Amino acid sequence: MARRAVGSGRSAIDDAPARRAHSSRPTGQSSKRRDQTAQTPKLDLRAVALLGAKTFQNYIGGERMDASSGGTFESTSPANGDSIGTFPLSKAEDVDQAVAAAKAAYEEWRLVPAPKRGEVLFRFGQLLIDQKEDLSQLMTREMGKVIAEARGDVQEAIDMAFYMGGEGRRLFGQTTPSELRDKFQMSVRTPIGVVGVITPWNFPVAIPSWKMLPALVCGNTVVFKPATDTPLLGERFVELLTEAGVPPGVVNIVHGGGGAVGEALVRHPDVRVITLTGSRETGVQVLKAAADGLKHVHLELGGKNAIIVMDDADLDLAVEGITWSAFGTSGQRCTAASRVIAHAAVYDELAGKLVRSAERMRLGVGWEDDTDVGPVINRGALEKIHSYTEIGKDEGAKLLTGGEIASGDGLSDGFYYRPTIFGDVDPGMRVAQEEIFGPTTALIRVSSVEEAVRAANGVKYGLSSSIFTRDVNKAFRAMRDLDTGITYINAGTIGAEVHLPFGGTKDTGNGHREAGQAALDVFTEWKSIYVDYSGRLQKAQIDTSS
Ligand code: NAD
Repeated sequence: MARRAVGSGRSAIDDAPARRAHSSRPTGQSSKRRDQTAQTPKLDLRAVALLGAKTFQNYIGGERMDASSGGTFESTSPANGDSIGTFPLSKAEDVDQAVAAAKAAYEEWRLVPAPKRGEVLFRFGQLLIDQKEDLSQLMTREMGKVIAEARGDVQEAIDMAFYMGGEGRRLFGQTTPSELRDKFQMSVRTPIGVVGVITPWNFPVAIPSWKMLPALVCGNTVVFKPATDTPLLGERFVELLTEAGVPPGVVNIVHGGGGAVGEALVRHPDVRVITLTGSRETGVQVLKAAADGLKHVHLELGGKNAIIVMDDADLDLAVEGITWSAFGTSGQRCTAASRVIAHAAVYDELAGKLVRSAERMRLGVGWEDDTDVGPVINRGALEKIHSYTEIGKDEGAKLLTGGEIASGDGLSDGFYYRPTIFGDVDPGMRVAQEEIFGPTTALIRVSSVEEAVRAANGVKYGLSSSIFTRDVNKAFRAMRDLDTGITYINAGTIGAEVHLPFGGTKDTGNGHREAGQAALDVFTEWKSIYVDYSGRLQKAQIDTSS
C-alpha cells in the first residue's frame, strides 16, 4: 500500500502562516522544542552568550524594532531543545517598512562606486574570518550540523565575500565596434533595485552570502528573510554586514514565516528581484505569486542526486564519497547523494562496504569533535524522513541498515535519525524519486553506463551528479549526458566552489545560477549604450553605405 510522506519537514511557522499570523508563539513552545527529559549536556551557548542578548528584533532602516504585531517565536537547538533566542514574528506591515527603507537607501547605494561597495565586502570577509569559530559554534547549536561542516559553511561565505568584493573592480560589460562611423557602443550592468532574499536553514551563513553579496556589490539593496529555524545566524550575518560598513537601509532583516513575511516580500510591488533557495513546492508558490509583478525570480530548489559507481571504480574511494555525500549534514543538503547507482559487478561488494561505513558513524551533538552525524532540523523533518523508511519498505525496497529514530545515549532530547540505506531499489520507487532531505540513500543496480545515466536522469530534479570510474570514455560520456547543473568525476555530489556557477536543471530551478559570474545576471540588468559623435543623424540598418 502506498504511504504518504508525513508533513513537509518545514517548521510549524512555515506550515501554518495563516493560523499563526495573529497570534504570537509563546516562547518555550517552538516546533523544534521537544520533551525535556534532558540527557545531553546543556549547551554552554558560548556563541549566544557573546551576543549578550536572547531577545532579538528586526533591523529596518538602521533601527532595531519589534514586529508590529508584538508577536514572537523562539529558536531552539535541534540537538537538545535548548533555547537559542526569541525573535519577532513579523507580518506584511513589517515587510512594508523594510521595503520602504531599502527603496530609499537604494537611491544612494546604487551611486556608490562599485569598487567601494566591494571594499565593504572585503571588510565583511575579514570580520567573518575573525568570527569564524564563534559563528561555527553558534551554527552547530542553532542548526545542528557538525562543527567541521559548520566551519565549512562559514568558510564558503568568506570565499564569497572576497570573490564578490573583487567583482567591484570588474562587473565587466562589453564594447564592440559599431556598423556606423563615429559611433561608440558598449553594454553595462546596472543594479535593479530592492532584492528580496529568502533562505532555508541548511546553509544558514553560506546561502545568505551567495545571495546578498552579489546583490550588494551590484548596487542593489536587500530585505532579508532568514528561515525561522535559523534566525540567530541570519541576525549575526546582518550585524556583521553593518559592522563592515553597509549603510542603514541597504540591508534589512525581517524575521518570520514564509506565508506571512516571505509571501509579502514576493508580492510587494517595490521588490523587483526575489531570490529564493528552498523546496520545489515553495519555488512554485513564489513563482506564481511573483508573476503578476513580472519580477525577476531566481530559484534554487530541491535535488535527488545520484552517484554512479562503475565496475572499474576505486570502490573504497566511492564508499568514502558516498558516505560523505549521503550522510554529511545528516543528508540535509540540496546536493546530498540520495541515490547510488551501482554496476551489477560491484553492487554487492559496494553495498557491504557502505553498510559498514554507515554503521560506524557516530551520532551526537555537532559540537563534539567525534560526532559524524548531527540531528536533523526539527520534529517535522524527523517524521518526514521516517515516513520514507516506511514507504521504502512498503514499496519492496530492502532496508540494509538504519531506518530508525535514534534514542538513548543522550540522543532522546534531539532529532536524530540513523544513517539509512535501502538496497534493491527500483528507479521508479518513491524513495528513488522524491527528495527525502535526510540521511537516507537508495541503491539501484544497473548493468551499463548507459543504463546508469538513464536512471540518474530519470527524476524531476537536476542539481548534482557524480560518477566513479577509471575509464576516461565513460567519464566523458557521463559529463556530456548527465542532465544536472553540476557533475563530479571520482568525487561525491557535494563540494561546489564559489567561483563556478551553482544550480540545477529541470525542477531544481528556473534556469538561473548563483555564484561565479553567473550570479551577476540575477542581480543586474544589461543596458546597451550607443554614443554617436558624428554630428549627423545616422540610421542603423538604413545608412548601410558608411
Ligand atoms: P522551504 O521551501 O520550506 O523554505 C525556504 C524558505 O522559504 C524559508 O525561509 C521559508 O520561510 C520560505 N517560504 C516558505 N513558504 C514561502 C512562501 N509561500 N513564500 C515565500 N517564502 C516562503 O525549504 P527549507 O525546508 O528551508 O529548505 C530545504 C529545501 O531547500 C530542500 O528542498 C533543499 O533541496 C532546498 N535547497 C536547495 C538548494 C539549492 O541551491 N538548490 C540549497 C539548499 C537547500
